[in-house]
Amino acid sequence: MVDEGLLFKNQVMFLSQTFFIKDNQAELLLCAHKYDFDILFFDQMSDFVMAVQSAAADALFVVDLDVLYNMQDDMQHSRKQTMFLSDLLQRLPPQHSYVYLQTERQGERFLLQQKLVESHCRAYAEKPIANDVLIDKLYALFARHQSGELNTIVYLGDRPLVDVALLAAHSIELLHHINVQTLHLRVKEVQPDIVLIEDAQYMRTEAIVRVLKKNIEADPSREIVMLQRRADYALAQRAFDSGFDDILTLTDAGLLTRQLLNRIDKIRVNKNLINRDRATGLLNKIGLQKKAQDAIRRAAREPRSLAYGIVDIDKFKTINDTWGHYFGDIVIKRLSLVLSAHVGARDLLSRFGGEEFVVLFWDCTAEEGQRRLDAMRAAFCEISFEVTPGERRHFSFSGGIAAYPACKTENELFLRADAMLYRAKEGGRNRICR
Ligand code: GH3
Ligand code: MG
Ligand code: MG
Repeated sequence: MVDEGLLFKNQVMFLSQTFFIKDNQAELLLCAHKYDFDILFFDQMSDFVMAVQSAAADALFVVDLDVLYNMQDDMQHSRKQTMFLSDLLQRLPPQHSYVYLQTERQGERFLLQQKLVESHCRAYAEKPIANDVLIDKLYALFARHQSGELNTIVYLGDRPLVDVALLAAHSIELLHHINVQTLHLRVKEVQPDIVLIEDAQYMRTEAIVRVLKKNIEADPSREIVMLQRRADYALAQRAFDSGFDDILTLTDAGLLTRQLLNRIDKIRVNKNLINRDRATGLLNKIGLQKKAQDAIRRAAREPRSLAYGIVDIDKFKTINDTWGHYFGDIVIKRLSLVLSAHVGARDLLSRFGGEEFVVLFWDCTAEEGQRRLDAMRAAFCEISFEVTPGERRHFSFSGGIAAYPACKTENELFLRADAMLYRAKEGGRNRICR
């Protein structure tokens, strides 16, 4: 395979004993690749330390503490030696943090746990832990630290008492809104993650929460939070009853900002789990539908045209049957990278199903969409896959294009593009129809 090192978005460096690696490597890798990361295994302290020092900033480092009991000390390559925990911790480069896998013995000793969590600890796991559980948890650590997306808070009230600069530094924008009567329109337009409503506004118009929440299209994961200037328990209870998710006390801008940062952090993790495909990091079907609907609304307002393309790998069943499902997954992964490299910041890209992708080109006609998708097709065809040692093959995909405003809704776009995909398959595959 070409460029296999670049196939996965993230990297884990894993220090463990030789026999643990031998027994678990294949299964761990298989799981990890489904979550878009790769694992490099080390059984020597010095190799691990070197790799950590030259690793990418967003890599994760895992240290299996069983190495303390069972590793050959690489200083004196010959015999097994027990290393002390403090020696090991001291040799880990201090500019990074680590995920520790602790033995059952260690877990029972609180002082030891305390020492671990205070020693550049990103997280710790208690052994025994199943391979797939470990991978799932490592993925969650990656997901928490890279969303790349802008989150939005709408603030209804007099003067936002928050640290706007600190929010902006965490890719959160705060939109100040003054008129309670038009809040629902603003919320519909910008689709914020949190709506903050000052208590005075709520007292004036208690129906506001219901107006926001009872809309059947309202995002159920959006948080509606009341800001209270001073404690008023009766009002707070009424606010909860009318649908507020939570109430925060408005005393200090620094404090409120930190509360918001934590909430957005949780919202980001959940959004990622709901809207993204783990294997490729692309939007999944649900994530695409939400964003495509937003894009159509925006396109109608501006106005712009949109091109909607469906991609389906040709004869993929044969690829799976001939070279195995694992190889099939690699082909899917490579295709996702080719497609990603060809879309712009305002376009949408989704892994819609197994070997099917959808791309939505912003400000793009059907003709131009066909041309752009065809360039992707040509780039994918170029890739030479090593199917067995020494044997290389090329693969292809077919595509169908539909466009807004000829098609008005996301569903119409999908049906039309799917019909065009069918035409491309009928016409001999490896082509784009519109
Ligand atoms: P066509 O050219 O007509 O598209 O032929 P095809 O064989 O690709 O047919 P189709 O698109 O219907 O087949 C999709 C196959 O993809 C069926 C399924 O077994 C396989 N598949 C779906 N999801 C995955 C996946 O995540 N990984 C792998 N390896 N295979 C998958
Ligand atoms: Mg298919
Ligand atoms: Mg197919």
